[in-house]
Amino acid sequence: MVQNLSRIIAQDKNFLNIINGRRVAALSQETITVLCPSDGLAFATIPAGSAGDVDRAVSAAREAFDHGPWSRMTAVERGRLLTRLGRLIEQHGDELAALESRDTGKPIRQGRADVAAAMRYYEFYGGAGDKIHGDTIPFLDGYTALTLREPHGVVAGIIPWNYPMQIMARVVGAALAMGNTLVVKPAEDASLSTIRIGELAVDAGFPDGVLNVITGYGREAGAALSSHPGIDYVTFTGSPTTGTAIQQAAATNNRGVTMELGGKSPQIVFADTDIERALPVLVNAIIQNGGQTCSAGSRILIERPIYDEVATALGERFNKLVAGPHDADLDLGAMINPAQKRRVENYVRAAAEAGIDVAGRGSIDSNAPAAGFYVAPVLFGAVDPSAIIAQEEVFGPVLSLFAFNDEQDAIRLANSTEYGLVAGVWTKDGARQHRVAKRIRAGQVFVNAYGAGGGIELPFGGFKKSGHGREKGFEALYDMSATKTIIFRHD
Ligand code: NAP
Ligand code: MG
Repeated sequence: MVQNLSRIIAQDKNFLNIINGRRVAALSQETITVLCPSDGLAFATIPAGSAGDVDRAVSAAREAFDHGPWSRMTAVERGRLLTRLGRLIEQHGDELAALESRDTGKPIRQGRADVAAAMRYYEFYGGAGDKIHGDTIPFLDGYTALTLREPHGVVAGIIPWNYPMQIMARVVGAALAMGNTLVVKPAEDASLSTIRIGELAVDAGFPDGVLNVITGYGREAGAALSSHPGIDYVTFTGSPTTGTAIQQAAATNNRGVTMELGGKSPQIVFADTDIERALPVLVNAIIQNGGQTCSAGSRILIERPIYDEVATALGERFNKLVAGPHDADLDLGAMINPAQKRRVENYVRAAAEAGIDVAGRGSIDSNAPAAGFYVAPVLFGAVDPSAIIAQEEVFGPVLSLFAFNDEQDAIRLANSTEYGLVAGVWTKDGARQHRVAKRIRAGQVFVNAYGAGGGIELPFGGFKKSGHGREKGFEALYDMSATKTIIFRHD
């Protein structure tokens, strides 16, 4: 795998932006060095784009939307291009999986899973755009009223570093299916797959300017993009703090936004749960991608009679978890960057200093390079629901356990953070499954399952601080378009 990847990187060590169908450097010629989290070493560069580059990308997208061949294409034709892009991603699957895992530090099998999910988004949205239609509305005598779904225009997609390929795919798939054009800004720590897929979109035959990729620092390129008056709509996934800044920037032009801002997602385990079945799902929900997942199941609420049994079993599993290099394909990889590693370590240290019980702790592989950004997974037991570790999104492999007394108590605890993205409910009692699922404030509730990040077809998004708007499934097509009402008088 390492050999294969060296060949790819040797071919293209200096990645470029994609503007108007062409590969271009930043106007300033400046670049950002790309590090591999597994060993901390530089292996590529990306352009350090700023306001001038953003301006070029937005102009290209504007021109493509207003005057290009894209503006006259049917939903079927747009869908065929998306499907073709999905096929190209499949054909370049090994390359993309290797690139994504080296860029983000995630185990290679997760890189492969991300390729499969990305491919599936393009397949889904390739076939979905021509199934969205408007209504006719009963109105006054002598009138006919109908609605059309129209694209917003030029959409800005600001992408985080945790699942760049997947999150790009859900944005690009829905936005282009509805006829928008796009400027995508990936995170400076994980831009390579976005650039590569931008290149593949040119190969797939998308007209110039339909899909532009611009890299750079969030505070420069990202801020210039979200405040640009040529942008008609902004979709963002990332932290609540940056989400607030982007909403304020978009508000200066009164533009709409979709915000996916993370979570502190609970899984409720009732005493009648099939524990053996639940355990691997509970562990995976926080360990997948090293816990750097917006929908990570970071809180487990356990009914008191089975608390000790479940806590002990989870502790045993945590003690066996190993973090290591992406190509070693262990339980988890490194954190994305040194700041994220420190952030996770600080949460763990503060919780331990506050006297919270460590109920399990994994390890770092002895062969892992010392300069990699690794943290060992930690399980905290009997956590007080008001503790910082119980309330804040750590975005790392840190799981907190809580005991609850009854159904009311479980619902209260589940809803006791500022977030509301995903939840899990584990019980065999069918009536309770429905009751609890309805009362949890979360955009997705899994019953006897938990699908962190999964489900291309399933509408996804937050309540409360987790954000607003919906991505994935057909719902994303509504977010990525607006209703136009046309009224005919014919009496
Ligand atoms: P972030 O600041 O929210 O970054 C997400 C995206 O926004 C990146 O593309 C970033 O670019 C860009 N950005 C940053 N500042 C911007 C600005 N002022 N205007 C426009 N765009 C801007 O996330 P982060 O700093 O990488 O991570 C911090 C925390 O966010 C994490 O610890 C985690 O808690 C949370 N997070 C959540 C998710 C999620 O899926 N919900 C994903 C990632 C992070 P640059 O990276 O180039 O600055
Ligand atoms: Mg990187």
